[in-house]
Formats: sequence, C-alpha cells, structure tokens
Amino acid sequence: MTARTHDLAAFTTLTIVYLSQPARTLTLSTLILSVVACLIGGITPDIDQPTAPFWRNLPILKFFGKYFDNLVGGHRFITHSILGLALFGFLAHFLLVFFTPVMPHVDTGYVWWAYMIGMVSHLVMDSFTKEGVPWLLPVPIKFGFPPVKSWRVTTGKHVETLIIFPALVVLTLTYLYTHSAEILNLLHHYLV
Ligand SMILES: [Zn+2]
Repeated sequence: MTARTHDLAAFTTLTIVYLSQPARTLTLSTLILSVVACLIGGITPDIDQPTAPFWRNLPILKFFGKYFDNLVGGHRFITHSILGLALFGFLAHFLLVFFTPVMPHVDTGYVWWAYMIGMVSHLVMDSFTKEGVPWLLPVPIKFGFPPVKSWRVTTGKHVETLIIFPALVVLTLTYLYTHSAEILNLLHHYLV
C-alpha cells in the first residue's frame, strides 16, 4: 500500500478505536499529538524502503535510507512483524518517557497507543497485498489475506486507488457522521 493509504487507514482505525471507548477527559495537546503519532505509526514500517517518504523528503537522509534498508533486512522484513512492533513500541515508549518532562499536559500513554494503532493498521493493510507480511519473524513465512495470492491487491494499482482508498474515506466520514453527537459532546465536556 502507498503511504497515503496507510495514513488514512491509521486515522480510520484510530477514529473507530477512540470512539468505541467510554468518553474521558483529554487535553487538546494529547489529542493532536495522538493523531500525529498515529500517522507516523502508519508509515513507520515502510522506513525499510529507501524510497519511503520519511527518507525521500530529506535529501541528506537518502544515504541513511539505503543503509537502514540493509540494516533491517530489506523491505517487508523486521519492521513488518510482531517483533518489529515490539521493538518500535519499546523505542516509542522510551522516547515518550524521555520527553514527558517537557510535555506536562500530554497523556503519553494515550499517545503511545495511538502510535501502535497506526503501526498495527499498516501491517493489517499490507496483509491484503500480493507480497504479504512476515508477521511471525524469524519464521520466514509471509502471510496474506485472502490466502490466494492472485486475489490480493497490488500496491499503488487501481484496486488500491479506486476502491480501497475511497472506501476508507467513506468509512471514516460515515463513522464520524454517525458519531457526531459523541464528538460534539467530547468537544464540549471532555476536551480541556
Ligand atoms: Zn509496508
């Protein structure tokens, strides 16, 4: 899947997970940082590609992108596995704890979950593509859905751009619309 689809899928998942939880008080900075963390989590697994947006947008990082690609074993390897989720989850936790003193109004636990939701949504979305995902590394088997490879999606092709992406847009908007009362309630009573 492309970075655009991954970010949308991450946002959709975060919206659904968030709105299915009981209402709770949140600071505006927690909410904003959670959305940003979720979007970053949504594209983190693809940092194993030298062409990933993260590396591509900063020319000085291009060299490191190639180096990092080799380091993590090439595309769709460790960053696309449960092991990678644990590793990046630990790293994100460490970074959030480190920055906690300068972000006193941010619920870092909440931001961490948003990041992980983004990462998991990436792996789930990639499981629908022809390449599949090596969920159980070091077991070198790539899993995909449906099990028949030819029925799966090709990254960046018509099924993704004309069906999956618009379907995610419709799903997100429908979900936001049907939960508009809860969202207004959150804005009025729970956002501080
Ligand atoms: Zn990926």
